Order: sequence, then structure tokens, then C-alpha cells
Amino acid sequence: MVYNWMHEWAIAEAVILEVENLITRYPSLRRIKVVAGELQNIDESVLRQYLDMMMKEVAPGVDYEITREKAEFKCNVCGYRWSLDDVDLSEDEREAIHFVPEAVHAYVKCPSCGSRDFIVVKGRGIKLLYEVRE
Ligand SMILES: [Zn+2]
Repeated sequence: MVYNWMHEWAIAEAVILEVENLITRYPSLRRIKVVAGELQNIDESVLRQYLDMMMKEVAPGVDYEITREKAEFKCNVCGYRWSLDDVDLSEDEREAIHFVPEAVHAYVKCPSCGSRDFIVVKGRGIKLLYEVRE
């Protein structure tokens, strides 16, 4: 598999930009959590490498951790909620979904009523969580 490292680089840059904004606003910021959705394909060790490098320059006093958020879906027809663990997918299908989260609609349907009309409630993209103590 050919892997594009630029992807992690772009995510790290976006995170750093946000951290820069945050420490301007909250100089007492010491800790952030980078939450990566289950549907977001990232190589955590590569992302960590980039973040270590950039954080040292931009925000040396701030610790970070990377956590994953499980994907959650909600059916628009019957209201049922489920996760990726509840559906039977092949390795290839899981791989495809991790690369293109939009593909989830091609592979997944509501386990309760079989509809493909559902929304992704959780598990997409990258979020930053932080706590500021005054
Ligand atoms: Zn349903």
C-alpha cells in the first residue's frame, strides 16, 4: 500500500494552528486532547512524530494525547443507533471506509431495518479537546 504522509502532516498543521490560537487566548493552557474519529484514517505514530516536532516549537509547555472516538450511526428511518462493531464487514470494506468515510453509505446499512438512510453521529474527522484552569 502506498501511503501519503502528507495527510498526517496536514492534520498536524491544522492542530498546531488551533493550539497557537488557543494559547494566545488561554496562556495557562497545559494539556490538549487530539480526538481522531474511527472513520478518520490516520497513522497515529506518524501524526505523533509531526506533533512532537511542531509542539516543541510552538507550544513547549503544552502536553497532548491522541485518542480515538468510536464511530456511531443513527438511522433516519427507524432511529436505531449502532457502531462499526455491530456490522459485518470484510477487511477490504473496513479499509475502504477508513480511506473514504463517505464510502460508509455503500457498505453499511441499518442493522435494524436495512435502510441506507442514516447519519454519522460520531467518529469523523479530528477534534481538539482542552481544559483551561483559571
Ligand atoms: Zn433503521
